[in-house]
Amino acid sequence: MAERQATRSAKLFARAQQVMPGGVSSPVRAFKAVGGTPRFMKRGKGASITDEDGRTYLDYVMSWGPLIHGHAPKGLLSVLTKTARHGTSFGAPTRLEIEMAELVRSLVPSMELVRFTSSGTEAAMSVLRVARAATGRDAVLKFAGCYHGHADGFLVEAGSGAVTLGVPTSPGIPKAAAALTLTARYNDLASVDAVVGRVKGGVAAVLVEPIAGNMGVVPPEPGFLEGLRALCDRTGALLVFDEVISGFRASRGGAQHLLGVRPDLTCLGKIIGGGLPVGAYGGREDLMRMVAPDGPVYQAGTLSGNPMAMAAGLWALSQLSDKLYAKLERLGALLAEGLSESAHRAGTDVSINRVGSLLTVFFTNQPVRNYDDARGADTAAYGRFFQAMLAQGIYLPPSQFEAWFLSGAHTTDHVDTTIRAARKAFKVAARGGSAPTP
Ligand SMILES: *Cc1c(COP(=O)(O)O)cnc(C)c1O
Repeated sequence: MAERQATRSAKLFARAQQVMPGGVSSPVRAFKAVGGTPRFMKRGKGASITDEDGRTYLDYVMSWGPLIHGHAPKGLLSVLTKTARHGTSFGAPTRLEIEMAELVRSLVPSMELVRFTSSGTEAAMSVLRVARAATGRDAVLKFAGCYHGHADGFLVEAGSGAVTLGVPTSPGIPKAAAALTLTARYNDLASVDAVVGRVKGGVAAVLVEPIAGNMGVVPPEPGFLEGLRALCDRTGALLVFDEVISGFRASRGGAQHLLGVRPDLTCLGKIIGGGLPVGAYGGREDLMRMVAPDGPVYQAGTLSGNPMAMAAGLWALSQLSDKLYAKLERLGALLAEGLSESAHRAGTDVSINRVGSLLTVFFTNQPVRNYDDARGADTAAYGRFFQAMLAQGIYLPPSQFEAWFLSGAHTTDHVDTTIRAARKAFKVAARGGSAPTP
C-alpha cells in the first residue's frame, strides 16, 4: 500500500488538488473510500486502461457504466470524426435527434416521447418537475441507497433502519426541499405504504432504480416493482424508473423490459451516450406533452441533443444485440462463480449480487437486499481487496457501494485473470480483518 511519491499519478494528484476540490471532477474518483492515490488515466482500448505511469489495468469501472462496447471502439471513433467535421453543435434541431428518439422509443416503448439532456442528473431533476406539474403534488418518494443524480430533492436518505422524513445528505440543500423527499426501504413494500399513507394529498412520484446500482448492485425481489406499480395506480402517484444504469444494460429494453413492469416516466443516461455526455427522459405522451414548448413545464439545454452526443448514442445503441447480452450474461456468471469460490477458499465471507453484467462483491456473510444490509459490509476489507487487485492490474470501483461493469470487450481470459488475482486479494482482505498475525 505504500505509495511511491515519485509516480506521475501522485504528482498529478498533488497538482490537481491545487486547482480542483479533491483534485477531481466527481468525488468517488479520488479514492477516499479505499485510500491511496487515484490513477490518472491516459488511454483506454477495449477492456483495458493505461495510466500516466504506463501501467495497464483490466477495467471493471468502464466510466461507471456507459462503455458497454469497451473503450475507444473503432466504429464509434469513425462516427465521431465524421460528425465533428460537419460541426459539433448548432443549437438548432438536427435529423440525428429524431433518429435517436425513434430508436430509443423502439427499444423502450413506454417512452412515447423523449427529451434529451446532457446528464442523468438533468434527466432525473426534469422528470421530477414533470411529475409534480402533472399531479399538482409536491412530495416524492425515493429509496434509501438509490441515487438519482445530485439535484436538491434527491440528496436525501433515511436514517438507518428507520423510515423517516427527509434529512439532507449534503449541506446547501434547503430543509424545505429535503422535507419534500420521503424515503422508504428498497424491497420493502410495507415501508412504502407506511410513508405514502402519511402524506396528505399523496405523493407526486415514486422514483426507483428498478435494479439498484448505487448501493452496490441490489436486484428487486419478485413482486417489489409490481407492488410499486399497483400502489401508484391506487394513489395517483406516477411511477418513475431511473434506468440511468439499467437502461440498455439489463436488456436492450432496460429493466422494464426484463422485469415486465411499465413505468409512467423513465430516465436514461450512461450507455445512451456511448461515452459522451447524454441523458434522456420520457414516458407517457400526455405527461411529456406538458414539457415546453408543447406545454408549460420549462426545461432546456444549450448542448442538449448536440450532434456529437447523438451520433455516439446512435452508434452505441445500434450495436446492442442478443449476442452481446448473451455474452455479458455468460461472463457475468463466470465471474461471480469464480469470485465466490475464491472468497470461500480464502475464508472470506462475501455476498455477491449480480444481474447480467452488473455485480457487486459485498464483504458480508448476510444477503444484501437493501441499503441497511449493504452498509453492514466491511468497507475496510473491501479497501484491502481493492488495493490488492489494483496491485495486480485489476481496476475495480474505488468503493464498496458501486457496481462492477462488464463490457463486450471483456473476454473469458480476462475473467480468468481476474479470478486468479482475486484468490490472492481475498486472502489479503481476510488477513487485515483481525489483529495482525506474527
Ligand atoms: C449515474 C446515475 C445518475 C446520474 O447521472 P449523471 O450522468 O452522473 O448525472 C442518476 N441515476 C442513476 C441511477 C445513476 O446511476
